[in-house]
Amino acid sequence: KTRTRFAPSPTGYMHIGNLRTALFEFLIAKHEGGDFLLRIEDTDQERKVEGAVDVIYKTLKECGLNWDEGPDIGGDFGPYVQSERLPMYKGYAEELIKLGGAHYCFCSEEEIEAQRKEAESLGISFKFNDPCKHLSAEEVQAKLDAGEPYVIRQTIKNVGETYFDDEVYGRIEVDGDVLDEQILIKSDGYPTYNFANIIDDHQMQISHVVRGNEYLSSTPKYNLIYDAYGWDRPTYVHVPPVMKDEHHKLSKRNGDASFQDLVAKGYLPDAIMNYIALLGWAPETEQEIYTLDELIKVFNIHRISKSPAIFDIDKLTWMNGVYLRNMDEDTYYETVRPYLEKAVHGPYNLKEIAKIIQPRIDVLNQIEESVDFFDTLVDYDLEMYRHKKMKTNPEIALKALKASKAALEAFDRWDSMEALHDCLLALPKELEMKNGQVLWPVRTAVSGKQFTPGGAIEIAFILGKDETLRRIQVGID
Ligand code: GLU
Repeated sequence: KTRTRFAPSPTGYMHIGNLRTALFEFLIAKHEGGDFLLRIEDTDQERKVEGAVDVIYKTLKECGLNWDEGPDIGGDFGPYVQSERLPMYKGYAEELIKLGGAHYCFCSEEEIEAQRKEAESLGISFKFNDPCKHLSAEEVQAKLDAGEPYVIRQTIKNVGETYFDDEVYGRIEVDGDVLDEQILIKSDGYPTYNFANIIDDHQMQISHVVRGNEYLSSTPKYNLIYDAYGWDRPTYVHVPPVMKDEHHKLSKRNGDASFQDLVAKGYLPDAIMNYIALLGWAPETEQEIYTLDELIKVFNIHRISKSPAIFDIDKLTWMNGVYLRNMDEDTYYETVRPYLEKAVHGPYNLKEIAKIIQPRIDVLNQIEESVDFFDTLVDYDLEMYRHKKMKTNPEIALKALKASKAALEAFDRWDSMEALHDCLLALPKELEMKNGQVLWPVRTAVSGKQFTPGGAIEIAFILGKDETLRRIQVGID
C-alpha cells in the first residue's frame, strides 16, 4: 500500500516549500488510494517553538490535506510525535551496534575539533575519523560502566560503490567509504533526525519517502542502515527546492512569505494549493486551474521536475483572482464580506459593492483601497476631469455634471440600475456629446478617483440619490 508522511519539525510557521512537500506527499498517497500520515519531528528540542504544532494542524486543515494517521487522531503505528517515541530509538541503536552498523563514541568535542583543525591545516576536507570504532567490546563496556558520556555513531566500513534510484533524480551513485559516520544518538540520549527518520519510516511502513533534494546526499547513509537491519528501503522521491529567485531559496529567515503571511494578505488557501502544485510539477496538459480532487486524479510522480521552481507571486496573484471570479455568489460574498465591513461603514449595500469589485480584485487585501471612496470623497484635482481618450476636459465636464445633476434630481427610480443607466445615457444625445464625455466626469465626481471598481452608473446606484447629487455638486463647485 502506498503510504507517505509529512514530517515537519515544529519550528513555528509553515513555509511554502514545506507545504508544497506536504501537498506532493498527499497527492502521491491519494492518487494510489493510499494513506497520508502526519508525524511531528521534535527531537531537536532547541528549535522547538510553542504553538507550532497547532500551526501545522491548522494549515493542513485549511488546505484540505487531511491526514489518515497522526498525533491527534492516532493510528496503528503511533505515537506520531518523535519525543513520545524516545525509548524505542535507543533500543534500535543498540541493535544496530550488534549488527555492526553503529558504535559507541566517547570522543570529546576537543578531540573532534583537533582533527578538524588538522584537516584544515592540511587543506583537506574534514571527515571525522573515529578512533572509538576500534575499541574492543570490553573497552567499550568499561567506559560505559565508568559512566563516560557517549554518542552512538553510524559505522561506515568497506562499503565501496553504492547507489539508489530516486524517482525524480534517477540513479545516484556514491563512493560509500567517503560517507561520514554521523551521530545517531546524541549525548543527551535523543536520536538525531538522521536516525529517527529511518526508524519511524520503517515502523510506520512508509512506502514513499518524499523530501527536499537537500537530503539526496544523506540518503546513501540511510540506506546503509536499512540494509544493516535487513529492512526494505523505501522508494525515494526527492523534490527540487522552491526558490525566490535563481539563487535564493524561499525562506522565512529572508523575510519571504509563509503560508500564514499569504493568507493574511488575502490569498485563498485553495488558490495557494493550486499554485504550489505547479511548483516543480507539471501536468500533461496546459490546464492550470485544478481542485484538490482533480490534482489527486492527474498527479504523476514522474512529472516532478529536477530543476528548482521559482515562486512567482504575480502568477499566484493572477490565479487567486481567477478563484475569486469563479466562486459561486454566496461563497464569494462570505469571503469578501469581512473586508468590506472593515472598509465601508456608510449605509451602502455591501452585496452590490461586492459585485462591482469581483472582476477587479485579485487579492482580498486590495479590497480596502478599492472601495475607500464610498466612505470618504477625498479632495481631488480638477485635472482628473481631463481624459484624452474620453475626450473630456474640465469645461466639458462642468457641462456634463450640471446636466447630470438636473436629470438625476428629477429621476426617481433609484431602485433600478437599469433605469438609472437609461437616465444617464439619455444625456449624451441631448448634449451632443460622446457617452464618455458624460460618464467619465460623473464617475470622477462620485468617486474622486482615477480608477474605480464599477463605472459611474454602478457607483451612483450604490451611493443613492442624495449622496450622488451631493458629490456631483462638489464636482460642479
Ligand atoms: N523534519 C524534517 C524537516 O522538517 C523532515 C524531513 C523529511 O521529510 O524526512 O525538514
